[in-house]
Amino acid sequence: MALYLHIPFCVRRCLYCDYVSTTDLSLKEEYFNALYKEIALKGKKLKDRKVRTIYFGGGTPSFVEEEFIFQTFRTLQEHLDLSNLEEFTIEVNPESVNEKKVHFYKEIGINRISMGFQSTSDKILKTVGRSHDFNKELESYKLLTSFYDNINIDFIVGLPYENFDTVNSNLEFIEKMKPSHISYYLLDSSHDTPLKHFLEIKEMKLPEDDLVYDLLDYIYDQFEKSEYNRYEISSWSLPNKECIHNLFYWYNLDYVGFGVSAGGYINKKRYVNTSDVKAYITQLNDDKLPYRTKKLNDEFAELLETLFMSLRLTKGITYDSLVQRFSKNLVDNVLNQLKNNLEEYISIDDSIKLTTKGLNFSRLVFEKLLDIAPT
Ligand code: SF4
Repeated sequence: MALYLHIPFCVRRCLYCDYVSTTDLSLKEEYFNALYKEIALKGKKLKDRKVRTIYFGGGTPSFVEEEFIFQTFRTLQEHLDLSNLEEFTIEVNPESVNEKKVHFYKEIGINRISMGFQSTSDKILKTVGRSHDFNKELESYKLLTSFYDNINIDFIVGLPYENFDTVNSNLEFIEKMKPSHISYYLLDSSHDTPLKHFLEIKEMKLPEDDLVYDLLDYIYDQFEKSEYNRYEISSWSLPNKECIHNLFYWYNLDYVGFGVSAGGYINKKRYVNTSDVKAYITQLNDDKLPYRTKKLNDEFAELLETLFMSLRLTKGITYDSLVQRFSKNLVDNVLNQLKNNLEEYISIDDSIKLTTKGLNFSRLVFEKLLDIAPT
């Protein structure tokens, strides 16, 4: 199984961000004590499961002092079986890594770093409230490469002031520095964020949709010509550098999330923790697990979720693996509906996967998938 730990502290809030994070550091000590307790409580039922990946995400995990990361890791070691651990990732931001921290990450066995750039354009970074500029990105990236060869860099396309020049500058960085993994996301401005507010009152403007689609096509083309392999809708990797942790999500395999807003999926039960940091702390202080929702999936929901997630992968999922997990009748029934409704977008053969058109219009495909019903 995979483990996710949410560290919700940030230097400041980026305008487009809808993750659960806070700049209120007065809660840090209490938050981590609650996190240790959640690990201890959940760990009791998970002792016989082997952990293959750990992922510290956020928020900005690199923003908190090493002692908190260390104590969290020690608590995991104490309550869970980490003897088969393959991948151990921490998310960092350029402004909050330094040599001492990176050295410490290496010491405790972290073997993969994910760093959020979002853009290499200082104008864009400043506009959306990032806490770093391009020089800091370069400096931090170079520091990381003296310790790690497994580094992901996150980019977003479609931020204010985005154009071919800003995208080319991102691609030049990638071509020159060759991080082992790139996540390139399309901005989703539909969430309730300060950016959405500024767009509504016309204090900010996003690039036109047509331009964004042209930029996306351009990015896909450039990667196609490179040595990177697009293995998921928004993820490219050099050979053997796919993110093992994310593959657990995409194959709909068991993972356990700890921390505010973290989700989990274990033994067919899906849960999401409360998104309120104070409520998270209070509930754990009362020895209660801080669930916001918890449900047991029926077989149909389970199959649909598995398709939903695995269709994000360019190689999709094999028919055989589906019929090993679900009844053949149900699988055939759902695949027939997909064939009838989404033929252009999904190819159904030995593997079920998105076509090129499906990959490029994946949001539409996933919306339509929600219309599939048991018959
Ligand atoms: S650093 Fe990341 S988690 Fe924190 S506010 Fe910015 S985008 Fe959100």
